[in-house]
Formats: sequence, structure tokens, C-alpha cells
Amino acid sequence: MRTPIFAANWKMHLGPTAARDFLRSFLAAVPEQDDRELWFFPSAVALEAVARDTEARADVSVGAQNVHWEPKGAYTGETSVAMAREAGAVGALVGHSERRHVFGETDEETSRKVRTLLNAGLTPMLCVGETIDQREADETLAVVRRQLSALGGLEVDALTRVLVAYEPVWAIGTGRTATPTDAAEVHRDIRAWIAGRGVPAGSVRVLYGGSVKPANIADLMAEPEIDGVLVGGASLAPDAWSGMVQVALD
Ligand code: PEP
Repeated sequence: MRTPIFAANWKMHLGPTAARDFLRSFLAAVPEQDDRELWFFPSAVALEAVARDTEARADVSVGAQNVHWEPKGAYTGETSVAMAREAGAVGALVGHSERRHVFGETDEETSRKVRTLLNAGLTPMLCVGETIDQREADETLAVVRRQLSALGGLEVDALTRVLVAYEPVWAIGTGRTATPTDAAEVHRDIRAWIAGRGVPAGSVRVLYGGSVKPANIADLMAEPEIDGVLVGGASLAPDAWSGMVQVALD
């Protein structure tokens, strides 16, 4: 039984004050639910405020949007895993497409971040996904498998602690969504890759992300291969997000 995850990636929106305003209305509208996990990925400067305001909620976890793989040093602008943890993070996004395509993050760097997080006891949420050109060239599964290589060489115990988010780049922030069937095909392949490393196929959660919104979340969550959603734009409005995280599950 894989507990579904509803994850909000706030990107470079909502500083500490706006985040706390959001949580005031969101937490009042959404009672604690024991059949699902809610994750918030606020900006680094809002991590502490979000962690503090949600600490009474067992169904809520807070993660960083990005971390560095080194424990400390001359890395201007970066956040170490220990700093993120001290601010209340229990996990972090790794390899989000904006990190890969805007900031040039490589699979090698992604892999280091995954290991640093796991060694510190935090949960990495590894984001993978193809561009539109790669999809049209029929390279989706090859690209996703290459990105999954960031998990290569992990012990079975470590691999079971990882979350994976399939986020086709062409669907992020564009209004275009993969159909549940398209997503399921990739999710099955991700599970097969993981199972090939000795982890029971059903034990790692694979989320879908890319223009998930109130109008399509129910269909996506009804697909058995989809264990949750990672949402950008639609997670920024407390009304929309409180409705989405309370969607009926079969
Ligand atoms: C994301 O940034 O992870 C994302 C899925 O964004 P959006 O929901 O806006 O497409």
C-alpha cells in the first residue's frame, strides 16, 4: 500500500509572510488526513516558517527545493542539507527540470545530491522527465532511464527511501498535461528500472507533475500507477490547493 502524496512546489513564489498567510487559510480548510501525505517545497528563506506553522500536522512534511551536495564551503547562494534540515526540511527536490534546464544541473550533480540527502536521513524527491523534442524523437524512456542513473549504485535500503516524480518538461507550467495513460507508461518503466535494482516494484512511490490542476487531478489520481502529484502553479492558491489535496481517492 503506497500512501499518496500531494506535493506543492512553490518555486520562487511566497516568501515567509506570504507562506504563512497561505497556511493560515489552507490549514483551516484542510483537516488532518491519515490516508495521504502533504508536502510543501517553499523557498529556502520560507522553510523555517512553513515547518513551524505545520509542525502540529502529522500529515504535512516540508522539503527544500534544492540543496548542495557539499556540507559547507564557498558556495555563494547555496543551501547545505544540514541547513535545510535545521530549518525543518525532511526532504528535498532533486533534479527539477528548472534546475536542469535553467541552471545546468547535471545527472552527476543530481546523483551527489541524492546521496548527501540520504546520508543525512532526508528524503530525496528525484524529478525526471523528457523535453518535447525528446518525446517527439521517441526518446522518453531512454531519457528518463538516464536521469534515473542518479540512483545507480544505491543500496536497496536507500533506494526504498527515495521518491520519484515524473515531470515531462513540456507539461510543466504550460497547461499541457500528460494523459493518465501516457504517465502510466513512463511510471511502469520507472518501477521496472527500480525493481531491476532489487527493490520490490511496489515499494517506491512515483508521482506525476506537469500542469496538474483542479480539473484533472481526479483523473490522474485514479490511475493506479500514479502515487501522487507534484504541483507548481495550482499549488499557489490556497483555495485551489485545499480542494486538490482533498480529492476523493478510491
Ligand atoms: C513543477 O514545477 O514541478 C510543476 C509541475 O509545475 P506546474 O504544476 O506549474 O506545471
